[in-house]
Amino acid sequence: MKNPFTSIIGIAFLTLLSPTNQAQEKPPEIEIKLAKSADEFLILPLKIYRLKAADVPDVDSRQLTDPDIHRILIKVNTVWAAAGIYWKLESIENVNAENLSRLKLLGLADAPDTQKKPHLAFRDVIPESTRKDYPGYQVYYIHDFDVNGVYFGRREAMVKETAALRPVEGGIDEPIPRVTSHELGHGLGLPHRQDRLNLMASGTTGTLLNTAEIAIARELAAKNPACMKYNELQKKMSLETNPSKKKTALDALKAIETIGNKSIHPVRSSMDAEIISPGETK
Ligand SMILES: [Zn+2]
Repeated sequence: MKNPFTSIIGIAFLTLLSPTNQAQEKPPEIEIKLAKSADEFLILPLKIYRLKAADVPDVDSRQLTDPDIHRILIKVNTVWAAAGIYWKLESIENVNAENLSRLKLLGLADAPDTQKKPHLAFRDVIPESTRKDYPGYQVYYIHDFDVNGVYFGRREAMVKETAALRPVEGGIDEPIPRVTSHELGHGLGLPHRQDRLNLMASGTTGTLLNTAEIAIARELAAKNPACMKYNELQKKMSLETNPSKKKTALDALKAIETIGNKSIHPVRSSMDAEIISPGETK
């Protein structure tokens, strides 16, 4: 099949005016990378889990519906389009949290928000059965802990459904997609960079990535054995006989084509998100 896209990598400049000193200083120019063309995308598989724990309210993810998760993933992919990386949703599952006794013993599981709930103690609640030989990435949603999210290594991230962020100009309009994108950034080898507009800044709504970060993330993505390029997914989709896997692949291809075609930039989210819904059939 002929790929309908020509290379449309581009750079736009967004001029931000500071309300306090615009008369005195030249406003800063912020470089915004546009989405890469479809055939440049690196596609990584992603599984989403809602951790369930009826008697441990802080673990028990109970706010996020499937449509919420689809919306979140559209926004995550809008952010990562700047790097030409696409997270292909493999599944959304509810799974029972494990090893809850330690959290209960520590009295951390339902401690009030003012008390510390060390996020590292939450690593143990990930069900071992979800870890079997999976080369893709996995995000576990829980209700609450002492950080917005954490990347545990081994392509595992945990994000709380009650995440809250400090808004910055041009930032994303919803915390969970930003926190999810940020933790996946750690999963692609990125450390923190405390430029508040940056995706890797702590606790802000910023979503920008710089050229060096994009290069690091793409290099690591390309090394993942489950990583596919656009044309590889296209081929896999055409040979796929399982209808549901075929649809997942087709949805991902359509979403990537739309991202490539529209050349969206990563800092606006809700408007952009509407145009790349993977569930949409045209
Ligand atoms: Zn971080």
